[in-house]
Amino acid sequence: MTYGMEKILISACLVGDKTRYDGHGNYNPLIKELLEKYELVPFCSEVEGGLPTPRKPSERKGSRVVNNAGKDVTKNYLKGAEMALNICKYLDIKVAILKENSPACGVHQIHDGSFSGKLIKGEGTTTELLRKNGITVYSESEISELLK
Ligand code: SF4
Repeated sequence: MTYGMEKILISACLVGDKTRYDGHGNYNPLIKELLEKYELVPFCSEVEGGLPTPRKPSERKGSRVVNNAGKDVTKNYLKGAEMALNICKYLDIKVAILKENSPACGVHQIHDGSFSGKLIKGEGTTTELLRKNGITVYSESEISELLK
């Protein structure tokens, strides 16, 4: 019976969905414990924004997002972010757990836009929009804070 449990939006790859650019997931072993306390709503901004899986990796360059072939995919990322926000509004979700380092889901850091593997302080496009709308965003390394 899940009625009444607080809902949390979560990066789909963290529950094991194979939504990553390389066709893999990022299953996090704390998901089982989270499910005892919360109703999880998996969502992937890149897939819902219309990008195929697998796909070329993308990185943020300021307000734009480009893939490693130089194609501007900003529109897909903004669409995914809008859809994530709509789901949060519709389901009255106030908390999200998103995948660190991703150009959509990054919470504290993202790649620097040079495709060299370098990380910089920053947030993904979905994280940015959710936070602007008052939603608290945790990364997967902060899940334990939600299990206290
Ligand atoms: S956009 Fe987010 S949910 Fe989708 S694969 Fe990337 S990190 Fe995971």
